[in-house]
Amino acid sequence: MKAQILKKIVKLEENPEPLEMVDLPIPQPNAKEILVRISACGVCHTEIDEIEGRCQPKLPVIPGHEIVGTVQERGNKATKFQVSDRVGIAWIYASCGKCGFCREGKENLCPEFQATGCDANGGYAQYMVVSEDFAYPIPERFTAAQAAPLLCAGAIGYRALNLTGIQDHQILGLFGFGASAHIVIQLAKYKYPHGRVFVFTRPGQKEHQDLAKKLGADWTGATGDNPPANLNYAIDFTPVWKPVVEALRILEKGGRVVINAIRKEEMDKNSLLELNYSTHLWQEKEIKSVANITRKDVQEFLPLAGQIPIIPEVQEFKLAEANKALNLLKRGRIQGAGVLRVD
Ligand SMILES: [Zn+2]
Ligand SMILES: [Zn+2]
Repeated sequence: MKAQILKKIVKLEENPEPLEMVDLPIPQPNAKEILVRISACGVCHTEIDEIEGRCQPKLPVIPGHEIVGTVQERGNKATKFQVSDRVGIAWIYASCGKCGFCREGKENLCPEFQATGCDANGGYAQYMVVSEDFAYPIPERFTAAQAAPLLCAGAIGYRALNLTGIQDHQILGLFGFGASAHIVIQLAKYKYPHGRVFVFTRPGQKEHQDLAKKLGADWTGATGDNPPANLNYAIDFTPVWKPVVEALRILEKGGRVVINAIRKEEMDKNSLLELNYSTHLWQEKEIKSVANITRKDVQEFLPLAGQIPIIPEVQEFKLAEANKALNLLKRGRIQGAGVLRVD
């Protein structure tokens, strides 16, 4: 099979082609696993964190954790899916199922958590294997390319929105308007029809702001601008610190900022030194991070996305163009979500 493989940690600016297209044997499913023939795989900012070493992937690895494909073969004890069923695979590849976190429904925090495309081979390839317990049916109304971003950008966005604790009639701020935020705004507008959503982008990202307005944003501006009212809750989707500080500044009393990022780039860490207790934290303001996802997040979100419906805006690339897609993503040049089409 063809696969894009990451062999070593590099900086994307210094080496814009970190992935190498190689031929590998098709993997064989173990007893409880399925072999999936991949149709599409989303391109996520986490791949850049892996490539640049902010996350520690088990090298060499095939990246990619927003996977849609069809079951090609089943292990001899796998019974949940039929051959040719369409399935999705998300960031959660495995958890132990026995520890305190797993037993409390927090398998995202399991010490043995394994991530797809990081601890195990993922979807930048023609085939992959996964336990049948970590695969999900895909609602029929989505094409493979449309469904792919729902598996990370969507499911983690769903988790982040739930972690805010927001209710209807409140104001939500979204910082950064890429793959995840453009799904979360649709979810927020559906679940909280009387609330308002304010969207903050990098200065001059007019296309992102236009897309936000088209999807129902009540106000758009640049990070650092003062919106028409303070935010009850905010979700930060950016790879940097400045938006967190800015969100805290314009947060209403008792509000919460949820950081939807696996790692922060440290280039602007001095922004944190601008944190002033009385301006940014007093009045019971909170900061909370999102770590990974649970299977329940994915299982709840996919049917909801089908019902609303949330149809992601996608920009498609060939598997051979994975490096190009990652470079565009790093520069904030992808509209909606980037997806690799695998033939
Ligand atoms: Zn992701
Ligand atoms: Zn566990």
